[in-house]
Amino acid sequence: MVKVLKFGGSSLADAEQFKKVAAIIKAEPERRYVVASAPGKRFLDDIKVTDMLYDCYKLVKANQPIDDAFKLIEDRYNGIIKDLGMKLWLQPEFDRIKNAIVHHAGRDYIASRGEYLNSMVLAGYLGYDFIDAEDGIFFKENGTLDEEKTNEELTAILANHEHAVIPGFYGVMPNGTIKTFSRGGSDITGSIVARAIKADIYENWTDVSGMLMADPRCVENPKVIETITYAELRELSYMGATVMHEDAIFPVREMGIPINIRNTNAPEDNGTMIVPSVESNKVDTIITGVAGKKGFSVICIEKDMMNSEVGFGRTVLEVLENHNLCFEHLPSGIDTMSVVVNDADFLKNKDAIINDIQRRTKADSITVNGGIALIAVVGRGMAGSKGTAGRLFKAIAEGDINIRMIDQGSSELNIIVGIDEEDYVKALNAIYHEFVK
Ligand code: ASP
Repeated sequence: MVKVLKFGGSSLADAEQFKKVAAIIKAEPERRYVVASAPGKRFLDDIKVTDMLYDCYKLVKANQPIDDAFKLIEDRYNGIIKDLGMKLWLQPEFDRIKNAIVHHAGRDYIASRGEYLNSMVLAGYLGYDFIDAEDGIFFKENGTLDEEKTNEELTAILANHEHAVIPGFYGVMPNGTIKTFSRGGSDITGSIVARAIKADIYENWTDVSGMLMADPRCVENPKVIETITYAELRELSYMGATVMHEDAIFPVREMGIPINIRNTNAPEDNGTMIVPSVESNKVDTIITGVAGKKGFSVICIEKDMMNSEVGFGRTVLEVLENHNLCFEHLPSGIDTMSVVVNDADFLKNKDAIINDIQRRTKADSITVNGGIALIAVVGRGMAGSKGTAGRLFKAIAEGDINIRMIDQGSSELNIIVGIDEEDYVKALNAIYHEFVK
């Protein structure tokens, strides 16, 4: 059995956290490959090393000296090394990196050094080998991950190491320059490593005991989700509920490797298991989670006899496509068609889009309702369980909330309701408390 573990920035923010991490890794011999983030925040107003590195990049761009800013970064690592009682001398690495930054190294290279250095420290502390991500994670010319080459080469490299620490967040471009994933991308590295070694499980260690059934800023004390399928996770993270980088599920999903979200500060908690599928008899709650987002508009298009007009929908969607606008949902009536769009993209070109729809469809009327929030109620237990929608709408009605739109995915995995933004928190609570006792 092989386990791949990824530790986030807060799990590796100082020596105390390093000690917890080492205890977790050493507790099980299967925990052989570790992906590390850069040191994160130790307290609320602290600055992550990745952000300190981005600051150095900005200073160089502005022709400012980086000595003071870079010294703070050296101090972070030296502090950890000293407090761990290690004899590790990173000065040559610091000098090389600082020199590269001063000589206008790329932004991604600079940002990636946080993971690079931290992984060296962790490898030294654990007595594990250090494998540089630039030797095993490859991007294509267009900036996307070269899955095939990465998998092949990384598998071969890992086979030569019984135990290793690999820095998260970056890989290498065909021309040899360093490229990072987007922020939080060490989660993706962990998933790539788990796939390459065909791990039995990918443990993603963070500072919460799993994914919550609802946003704790809106619902008081929501329960932890014990088990969630990849598909459910996609639905919830699309609506903004995230415990890890969205793209991190893809590499492991392909191979059916489960992800276990765990808490470095409470390792006794089971956390959340993210799995390919769950036997239907194992469904313990009807809903798995509820999540939502504000900032949507509904474009409602009315035209008599629309239902018999071949190509009407295509014309509307073509207008959106021409304006490079994605649509979220398409709830439709007989003579009406509604398109739910994201305000961030829609409002930039609102008038032109509406004019184009009008011109192309000769609609009787087009109205736009802004200020809409969408809430996704997600649960594999909803499929085949009668009355769920009824309970949901009753709960919302009893909360005195007007529903502006309803959409149920054909997989019956989710029901999406559109409501006014001001009803958002009230609706989340009404739904959560209806299904979670
Ligand atoms: N250190 C990087 C960031 O702050 C990547 C990561 O932690 O996953 O985004």
